[in-house]
Amino acid sequence: MEQVLEKNRCTGCTACMNICPKNAIVMKEGKDGFKYPFIDNNKCINCKLCQKICPVINTRENASLNTCYLAYNKKIEEILSSSSGAIFSAIANFILDSGGVVIGAALVNNKLKHIVIEKKEDLFKLKGSKYLQSDLNDMFKYVKENIKHKKVLFAGTPCQVAGLKAFIKNDNDNLYCIDLICHGVPSPKLFSKYIKELESQENSKLKDYNFRNKETGWVTYSNRITFENNNNISELASQNDYMKLFLSDNALRESCYNCNFKFGNKYSDITLGDFWGVQDYYPKTYNKKGTSAVIINTKKGNILFNQIKGSLIYQNCNIEEILNGNPSLSKSAVLTETRKDFFDDLEQLSITALSKKYSKIRKRTLRGRIKQLILKICK
Ligand SMILES: Cc1cc2nc3c(=O)[nH]c(=O)nc-3n(C[C@H](O)[C@H](O)[C@H](O)COP(=O)(O)OP(=O)(O)OC[C@H]3O[C@@H](n4cnc5c(N)ncnc54)[C@H](O)[C@@H]3O)c2cc1C
Ligand code: SF4
Ligand code: SF4
Repeated sequence: MEQVLEKNRCTGCTACMNICPKNAIVMKEGKDGFKYPFIDNNKCINCKLCQKICPVINTRENASLNTCYLAYNKKIEEILSSSSGAIFSAIANFILDSGGVVIGAALVNNKLKHIVIEKKEDLFKLKGSKYLQSDLNDMFKYVKENIKHKKVLFAGTPCQVAGLKAFIKNDNDNLYCIDLICHGVPSPKLFSKYIKELESQENSKLKDYNFRNKETGWVTYSNRITFENNNNISELASQNDYMKLFLSDNALRESCYNCNFKFGNKYSDITLGDFWGVQDYYPKTYNKKGTSAVIINTKKGNILFNQIKGSLIYQNCNIEEILNGNPSLSKSAVLTETRKDFFDDLEQLSITALSKKYSKIRKRTLRGRIKQLILKICK
């Protein structure tokens, strides 16, 4: 077989690699820095199991229960060390207390990968959004093996959860899945380049990168970068070159521009996001240090929420209120005309130069330009 799926649709979920009975599939980095499945035709027996399992090729019926909350953790220190309202940490603590394990994304040697946490003291590694695609390696096999005898909480992007569920095939009482409202994931190659440049400017190795530091607020968050020489850089996300490039939509995985796993096609038990705009609907209840949107998708998710709600301040809300401030829940990012040029330039230009060239041209698609032209003519 030549390929499992067209490159521009593949999310890199690893389900095909994990299912292959001949280990004929490996995930290899493409020019854009994202990993894609490559088939070794000397090993492939053409059983097509990979295509039968791929969650992009095989979409399932899965309506959400559609119960929604605004919520945040009762402990302020949990909120301050999380991206939104620290609902993830409330759920993770509950699973760890029940003797289970928690799987999520952590930065290890400047690379983002999914790791397993068994102790509460290690939970800090998973907390907070990291804006690049995480490497799953063979984590799905670990999950399949461990749900036989303990609770496993898996947190990831909607496509990662869809891949895991496809690989597990039948849902399992011990498996709890959380996904995030997902704008899309930027390229790990961009992040590596950014860190290399910072390390050389500082003449010191990176010690910690916080993408969602709340010293400047929840909505007006900063990137806080700490080096081994104990120097810090703290920049508002709106002024940070890496974040500007992420939000320019030039650096996302191609599948993110036509994402199959938006609202209405959720594979997780609970979806978490920032409740942007919450102050307009619930000015008395919301927490300005971080308020989450919590969407319950399954009965299991509902039971889980009931088990943790004692550690939260929460209130029922309407899905429309979440959707209004958070289009990423239902809509994909718009493919820019400049994405290809951006990845050509990524090899040559510095991050500052890339930011100058590409940050301003967010979403200036042909359609957008025509619309602007028509508006000008009409004036
Ligand atoms: C790439 C990305 C894009 C996002 N886009 C939006 C958006 O458009 N709108 C919105 O409302 N919310 C978005 N979020 C989610 C939001 O930032 C918070 O993560 C979410 O509200 C949960 O917050 P929390 O305080 O409960 O938990 P947190 O402590 O913030 O928990 C974060 C959880 O996310 C996991 N995680 C972090 N980074 C990654 C990653 N790169 N890949 C997979 N899993 C990861 C961690 O393992 C942890 O389980 C995005 C998150 C990411 C990672
Ligand atoms: S989406 Fe997942 S299963 Fe499908 S081809 Fe890509 S990595 Fe394989
Ligand atoms: S936007 Fe869709 S395809 Fe892209 S990372 Fe998020 S869930 Fe996956």
